[in-house]
Amino acid sequence: MLYREGPDTLRVYFKDEATAFNAQKRGVIPGKGVVNNKVSAALFRYLEAHGIRTHFLEEVSEREMRVRRVEILPLEVILRFRAAGSFARRYGLGEGTPLKAPLLEFSLKNDALGDPLICENAVLALGLAGEEELETVKRTALRVGELLKAFFAERGLELVDFKLEFGRLGGEVLLADEISPDTMRLWDEKGEPLDKDRFRKDLGGVEEAYQEVLRRVLG
Ligand code: UDP
Repeated sequence: MLYREGPDTLRVYFKDEATAFNAQKRGVIPGKGVVNNKVSAALFRYLEAHGIRTHFLEEVSEREMRVRRVEILPLEVILRFRAAGSFARRYGLGEGTPLKAPLLEFSLKNDALGDPLICENAVLALGLAGEEELETVKRTALRVGELLKAFFAERGLELVDFKLEFGRLGGEVLLADEISPDTMRLWDEKGEPLDKDRFRKDLGGVEEAYQEVLRRVLG
């Protein structure tokens, strides 16, 4: 949830409500909002320290952060290290099949259409992003992938895939939205998911998984 704070800043409030499968499945994961706020803040700080420009300004409470007001590009930018979820279903692959190289994909952010996959040519032809913007998005997503992969590996977690969103601000393209167990797949040493897949697939231990991610991110 977003609300306007000043002319150039927004406040993001992280809720415990969860949705999956384009909001066909709904529920509440107690404490999720706090985890996602703290995890996102920690990851934005880490990425900023490694040269990635983001919309993050500061945490203002357990569930709120202050961010720069940007114009969000209508794209979900997904980077995959293994086949999982919709990608595995699309190509008939087993969950977790390794990929030869990190794979970057784009979806159009449009709930009514179910966030369809979109190719780079269509992104340009529809004017969703300019050529330079698209290059920045691609370069940044790949670099974020390297940085996050290493960050989680140090904490005994495998980053399987994740989704990013970007926004325009005064001729610049910044990393925006959130980076949390809601927007990535993370597996522990035993290959157990510690992310929203526990909710999507009714695996149980959902709250505990989110708390474990927070513990490892902060620890
Ligand atoms: N993802 C997301 N929001 C979306 C769709 C996907 O944050 O609207 C994340 C998802 O959690 C996963 C990655 O992007 O980490 C790839 O998701 P996928 O395309 O496999 O779709 P899903 O199976 O999650 O619907």
